[in-house]
Amino acid sequence: MSTAPCTATSVGRSYRARDQRSEVGGQTTVDRSSENQKIRRLEGLKNTNLLISGRLRRRRRRSINNHTSTIQVAEFTIEHQCPQCGAPALLRETDRFFSCEFCRVNSFLVQDDFSQYMLPNTAPKGKNLVYYPYWRFKGMLFSCLESGIRHRFIDVSYQAVESRLFPITLGLRSQALKLSFATPEKSGYFLKPTFSFNKAMNIFKLRFSTSLPGPVFYQSHIGDSISLIYSPFYEEDKIYDAVLNKPLTSIPPDDFNASSFPGGRPNSHIQFLPTLCPACGWDLEGQRDTLILSCRNCSTAWRPTKDGLNPVEFATMPTNDNNIIYFPFWRIKAEISGIQLDSYADLIRIANLPKAIQKDWKGREFHFWSPAFKVRPKVFIQLGRNITLSQPEKIMAAELPEDRIHPVTLSTEDAAEGLIMNMAGFMKPAKDMFPILKDITIKPKRYLLVYMPFVEQYHDYVQPELYLAINKNQLSLASNL
Ligand SMILES: [Zn+2]
Ligand SMILES: [Zn+2]
Repeated sequence: MSTAPCTATSVGRSYRARDQRSEVGGQTTVDRSSENQKIRRLEGLKNTNLLISGRLRRRRRRSINNHTSTIQVAEFTIEHQCPQCGAPALLRETDRFFSCEFCRVNSFLVQDDFSQYMLPNTAPKGKNLVYYPYWRFKGMLFSCLESGIRHRFIDVSYQAVESRLFPITLGLRSQALKLSFATPEKSGYFLKPTFSFNKAMNIFKLRFSTSLPGPVFYQSHIGDSISLIYSPFYEEDKIYDAVLNKPLTSIPPDDFNASSFPGGRPNSHIQFLPTLCPACGWDLEGQRDTLILSCRNCSTAWRPTKDGLNPVEFATMPTNDNNIIYFPFWRIKAEISGIQLDSYADLIRIANLPKAIQKDWKGREFHFWSPAFKVRPKVFIQLGRNITLSQPEKIMAAELPEDRIHPVTLSTEDAAEGLIMNMAGFMKPAKDMFPILKDITIKPKRYLLVYMPFVEQYHDYVQPELYLAINKNQLSLASNL
């Protein structure tokens, strides 16, 4: 491995991240699985290899299917109109880069911190519709236990206004129906959320913690899908569910009055940004679910935000191999308190690696590495851990890759959320280290988007120098997460 420091392009400022949030749970329950033990055993055998057997894949899928009553991996479709020509379009929930079939104009969808959608109604004309809100989260939930890290994918919803009258969750209806954006021009009375997303998230965490053997030292949720979904109702002799146009209650509720709840028009903004390179005016490129657009003409990368396109600092790792696809990773320099982790020497100590610490390792800067694309939770942790442990130091080019690029689908905010979990992935021994996780804070200071070359093989994408493999199925299953 080269000992020269990494070099990278600098295209102005990179964007800020939220401070790392830390939340700790303390629930106790029953162990779920020999399956996890088996996976851990395999991980132990193949410390730097992410070779996942077909049998394990099947087991994982089965275990996901076992929970279909509460977990559905599905994606909404959203009805919408082209901002240029008004032509109707159907978006997938994860779509950001929108190319109109009719007028051919490209634009990028920028939303608030969370998306706001409404369900369609079948109410008779002239009803005064009341829209009742639900929080919905889709993403990865990680829990640090004495026995290691447990992970699962969750897709859940919960009332954003407490009421006994309305269903507690949306159930499966949001996945079966075509949604539309809840924007201020939509008519109806939209109840304002009075129950915070964090409170709802704590309920989700508690619910999923009941299947874990306690204590839970640390929990973290990573996912870019936080949304508020409005479900329509109307009042008559009874309260009617306007999605199905059926009574919600068998008797008229005597104490219900929608206008006694705070509400009005939805307070949300969606914006379609034109996607021309701010540096050279060229058309920016990207896949439909990408969060970062790139300019092939002047070799720059941009993140669309509410304030316009912001430059992204990036670099490409060199390769001599053929049949390459580049996967994006966030390399993160962070300020860490509660534990000493500034240098490669500190990393060797915390990870308890069997290496004699050399003098110059104290001067080698430590970086976190985190996948910038959606993968199964287990692979997310494995990739982050294995690359962080490797601390790649190759000299990198300040240019976009010439070959295929896998889209960036996890933001710097997602990466920031995952940093403590990333650290938990390599701390050893876990049972001594996990109890101090709650005292650790990690503040990201600088992000570099690194395109890492992987060789395409029949079943996997392989990074030969770091001994990593990403299974193609794992990746395609994750694309709608
Ligand atoms: Zn159009
Ligand atoms: Zn350009």
